[in-house]
Amino acid sequence: MHSRTDSVHSSAEALKYPWETHPGPDQVVEVMPGVLWVRLKLPFRLDHVNIYLLADGDGWAMVDSGCGNEESIAAWTTLFEGPLSDVKVSRLIVTHSHPDHVGLAGWIVERFNCPLQMSQVEYLQSVYHQNRGTEERRNAQRLFFRRHGMDENLTDKLLGRGQDYLKRVSVLPPSYCRISHGDEISIGTRRFKIITGGGHALDQVMLYCAADKLFLSADQVLSKISPNVSVWAVEPDQNSLGEYLASLASLTTTLPYDVIVLPGHGVPFYGLKTRIKQLADHHEDRCRLIAEACREVPQTSKELVPVVFHKHVLDEHQMGFAAGELVAHVNYMLVEGRLTAEEVDGVLRFRTTCCLAAPLTSSAQSRASPRCSRTAPIRRSPRSPRTKSWNGGDIRRGRGCWRCAPPAPVPRRP
Ligand SMILES: [Zn+2]
Repeated sequence: MHSRTDSVHSSAEALKYPWETHPGPDQVVEVMPGVLWVRLKLPFRLDHVNIYLLADGDGWAMVDSGCGNEESIAAWTTLFEGPLSDVKVSRLIVTHSHPDHVGLAGWIVERFNCPLQMSQVEYLQSVYHQNRGTEERRNAQRLFFRRHGMDENLTDKLLGRGQDYLKRVSVLPPSYCRISHGDEISIGTRRFKIITGGGHALDQVMLYCAADKLFLSADQVLSKISPNVSVWAVEPDQNSLGEYLASLASLTTTLPYDVIVLPGHGVPFYGLKTRIKQLADHHEDRCRLIAEACREVPQTSKELVPVVFHKHVLDEHQMGFAAGELVAHVNYMLVEGRLTAEEVDGVLRFRTTCCLAAPLTSSAQSRASPRCSRTAPIRRSPRSPRTKSWNGGDIRRGRGCWRCAPPAPVPRRP
């Protein structure tokens, strides 16, 4: 689930949205010469995805393809018979393996006989998604949800939801051309640097053109909502939130403040660094809610969902994402030494480590709190005899209190 975050208006780098409205279903908006913006409908609560076309010699490079359903094919057909009738797609660049981005890759590549460019991890992840509906995988997912305190009824619903993925992608092209972090590619007269980042997807591709201060951020930095950052059964110990925050930190240090950001959802905007700070703060707020809730009594992920998502009424589709997001936050907090895990009867419960006395009221207060004396390695609580990561590794780093010892940056994958 992508969720809404609050906006900030009083800053030197205030968020600005040059387009107040988005393109309609049969419209194309020119963002700047040689950059077109199209918006397709989606069959989820997040009801649209942005597609960009970049002038590429005689043709246009398409960035993302839309969902693999009949409605998206009909929408593209209307566009290719209308405002895009002169457009020949020279190549398709897919930012990541989620169905709203890779869904129609096969259909576009076949229609235009063009190459597909993706990062290796995202292409292979798409292959994995297309082949994941085996009984073994369903069992692994069932055990994962049980371990996080979900009952049978909810687990059945969540497992049913997961199978939807297969219905929303056309057959993936059987080959692709790899693009990797740090590559420089030419698209028409522009040079783009390929930047990849984890968290929302494993190795999501973003494109940055320094000459035009143009940044295609995919789903890593969205204009008004926070991209989903989840952990799933395939890698239950993944620190996806740590990877996401490391990617945001890298973007904010390497990109200038005055780029125009073209996101995968929402509207183009200025104010990249302000938006990145909002997104990082949003996750920190969630971590603080979790820390508060786990101070007295250890909690399961299931029990923490309403604590973190108290503003939301969740349907089954969103509950699946909420559960995945919750696990991403507890995994991050385990790595940072802010929580410990206890396993009783196959169910994990989380407890806040040290600084148990004073409740937190704001991030400012937490930063101002005096240095904690409990900086020695975190000891096993007598009530938590099995404090360990659920793959048996030791998740206690002994780095002391998270309030007085700020989290170390999580190393990026090479
Ligand atoms: Zn998306």
